Amino acid sequence: MTKWVYGFGDGRSEGAADMRNLLGGKGANLAEMSNLGLPVPPGFTITTEVCTWFETHGQSYPDGLAGQVEAALSEVGRITGRRFGDTVNPLLVSVRSGARVSMPGMMDTVLNLGLNDATVPALAEAAGDPRFAYDSYRRFIQMYSDVVLGLDHHAFEEILEDYKNEHDLALDTDLTAEAWQEVIAGYKKLVEDELGKPFPQDPAEQLWGAIGAVFLSWESARAVTYRRLHDIPNDWGTAVNVQAMVFGNMGQSSATGVAFTRNPSTGEKALYGEFLINAQGEDVVAGIRTPQDITEAARIAAGSDALSLEKAMPEAFAEFVGICDKLEAHYRDMQDLEFTIERGRLWMLQTRSGKRTAKAALKIAVDMADEGLITPTEAVMRVDPAALDQLLHPMIDPKATRDILGTGLPASPGAASGEIVFSSDEAEEAKNAGRKVILVRVETSPEDIHGMHAAEGILTLRGGMTSHAAVVARGMGKPCVSGAGALRIDARAGTLSVAGRKLQRGERITIDGTSGQVLVGEVDMLQPEMSGEFARLMEWADAERRMKVRTNAETPADARAARGFGAEGIGLCRTEHMFFDGERIVAVREMILSDSEEGRRAALAKLLPMQRGDFTELFEIMQGLPVTIRLLDPPLHEFLPHTDEEIAEVAAVMGVDAELLRQRALELSEFNPMLGHRGCRLLVSYPEIAEMQARAIFEGAVAAAASTGAPVTPEIMVPLVGVKAELDLVRARIDAMAKAVSQEAGVAIEYQVGTMIELPRACLRAGEIAGAAEFFSFGTNDLTQTTFGISRDDAASFLGAYQRLGVIERDPFVSIDQDGVGELVRIGAERGRAARPGLKLGICGEHGGDPASIAFCESVGLDYVSCSPFRVPIARLAAAQSALKAKSA
Ligand code: PEP
Ligand code: MG
Repeated sequence: MTKWVYGFGDGRSEGAADMRNLLGGKGANLAEMSNLGLPVPPGFTITTEVCTWFETHGQSYPDGLAGQVEAALSEVGRITGRRFGDTVNPLLVSVRSGARVSMPGMMDTVLNLGLNDATVPALAEAAGDPRFAYDSYRRFIQMYSDVVLGLDHHAFEEILEDYKNEHDLALDTDLTAEAWQEVIAGYKKLVEDELGKPFPQDPAEQLWGAIGAVFLSWESARAVTYRRLHDIPNDWGTAVNVQAMVFGNMGQSSATGVAFTRNPSTGEKALYGEFLINAQGEDVVAGIRTPQDITEAARIAAGSDALSLEKAMPEAFAEFVGICDKLEAHYRDMQDLEFTIERGRLWMLQTRSGKRTAKAALKIAVDMADEGLITPTEAVMRVDPAALDQLLHPMIDPKATRDILGTGLPASPGAASGEIVFSSDEAEEAKNAGRKVILVRVETSPEDIHGMHAAEGILTLRGGMTSHAAVVARGMGKPCVSGAGALRIDARAGTLSVAGRKLQRGERITIDGTSGQVLVGEVDMLQPEMSGEFARLMEWADAERRMKVRTNAETPADARAARGFGAEGIGLCRTEHMFFDGERIVAVREMILSDSEEGRRAALAKLLPMQRGDFTELFEIMQGLPVTIRLLDPPLHEFLPHTDEEIAEVAAVMGVDAELLRQRALELSEFNPMLGHRGCRLLVSYPEIAEMQARAIFEGAVAAAASTGAPVTPEIMVPLVGVKAELDLVRARIDAMAKAVSQEAGVAIEYQVGTMIELPRACLRAGEIAGAAEFFSFGTNDLTQTTFGISRDDAASFLGAYQRLGVIERDPFVSIDQDGVGELVRIGAERGRAARPGLKLGICGEHGGDPASIAFCESVGLDYVSCSPFRVPIARLAAAQSALKAKSA
């Protein structure tokens, strides 16, 4: 018979850490901790296979499950000396979800399950504290009603608030056992009024209700959204963990807390965490009470006068420190732990790999390699390339004046500016309208995921470093300031205020997630630099990498930045981007609008010295590294004059009638510019453009070689080739120009001519095209556009909906469509290389900076990827990881 249930506790377990697919991350780690002999409250895990069964069998359970649950429950009873439903010595349990990978706050939890009118007096008796027992019971009713019965928790909060108001009580802790009993009566009445039946008293009914709710929550909207955003397959399912309750709220010798074995924000090697005395787990993360520091060092650093765990409960603290060390060494990674101390006795409720900022990930990986805990190669695999973005984000210029509105916790690093919005829907709307916003909330909850995604940064007034906002923002790599308690939100009036100052919705603020400051207005930012751990990890990554990493750059500033980030050349210089400058654009328009070769040549002559200067500078900056310059590829509409002034300006320069020019511009306008007279088509029509650009490139190369002493071998790239003859025509002009410049300068000129492969036909006819090309660069932006037949410019309006509907998994313009576009790339690479062995292959579409696409490029055997400067480090790391994965496969 299939085993659906795995027990743990009392120093052993039926599961282990490597069974996370079946037991979920939480279940596997509880089993492992139990195997390690750590103090884990006994319990059992219902496997993810049951979730899948539940989903595919009309929300029913497999045969045998009920019996296995019953047996596991009595084993838990045996270990604890209690019995589920017993009115003398009742066993109470928690029921929690736990998927293969952690989905923080995405799934529901029920605590204190097993309490009812008959067992609550026994708990009061056992604890010697009726107040505690009835407080637990009311928490259970509220939680169960919310999670399992689907009743809004606010209604329960209202009953409690009304009660407190009526009796003039300020805090929950002011309520006596009798008071809680009255509140409980109100709760039970609410349930009965709403559902037409009483709150379930049968513990078995309670348990199965909670188990079902966990499985159902796998399909909840927020869980589905989370999975979509994090690429978690729906069919993984969640496990359910049922575990004996231990209580952190049994008085002053009890506590509960969360901790990281290293600082998850900075990576510093120091135990880091928060706890609350006399509280239950959700109190710590809910941010309602301000948690205390675990260590004295952290308390002193924070300037707090609330007792640390180290001082308050030294014995439990010492045991906890030992367990932290043991778990970190065992898992060889920073751990995120949950614990409870029940009347002085420490219990471990969870361990898992801790989420961390990119900065912390880097430091921890490099430190652990230095400590010998992991190898440098493992360190390279430990850091998520996409998360490096966080380190590459702008920081506030230290010289900038800071108009500080308030301060909170530095919950997630980096800085961001935007308009104030107060709800996630507003944030999403604004983002869709192209505006940048900061989401400002009292606190966030899983319902805010879409708003957090849409916002540049998140500011909350409540909650600590482990609050929802902090944890989720760090995961997303967005700046976040949490717990800025002095600020006030008046959502109705649309204001954010603090003593004497008031900002309206829509006004701009800047948050600094590194210092915790909230600033008025937009503030100057500094571009980040790589140093310390970053540089070391990059060195280790470079040692593992096969593919080269180049950059897409045309300005000297971008080229310099990219070199600073480690770019090994330029993979794409889009020359049309060089033509938008004031005086240049007029000459470009003049060239385009001339109806004679003579006219075009006159305009091109004006552009030549400017282009020569551009190229010379780029070659100088790249100091002998390869530089690929693409000949003009303008969708013409971008260059045509639109306004009367623009037309008049060009007409004056050309000495022609403005009206005539307007007519000419009209003739040139296209229905579908992206598929129109662009790329090599323009060069075929007007070969003098290719000639001018080739001359500028060769003359620039000669000049740069002379000034730097480093040989320059320009790579000239022809865009949008679909037919070999196009390339032949353009190439002939380039070759002729090379000869001419070489003769004029009296030096030999080394160069290569290649082509973009960005049309399906070019992929299919790659063998033929390779006859005229020394290199291919896959232009996967256009290749995606032309393979899908989806306009690059218009895709946004429906691709979002496509993703939500599951028509496509990811935006193919962001991450390469490996099945379709990818197959064409593969064909192009294979046919090209078959025809010309050693043909150099690269990619320069946006995908060149996307880690998943980079892994694909590795599998195709491309020689290099080229991406925007800020993505260069990401690409270096992703290329290293792809090479390592390919080696180990
Ligand atoms: C491409 O099409 O992938 C490409 C790099 O060229 P562009 O984005 O300039 O069209
Ligand atoms: Mg293109």
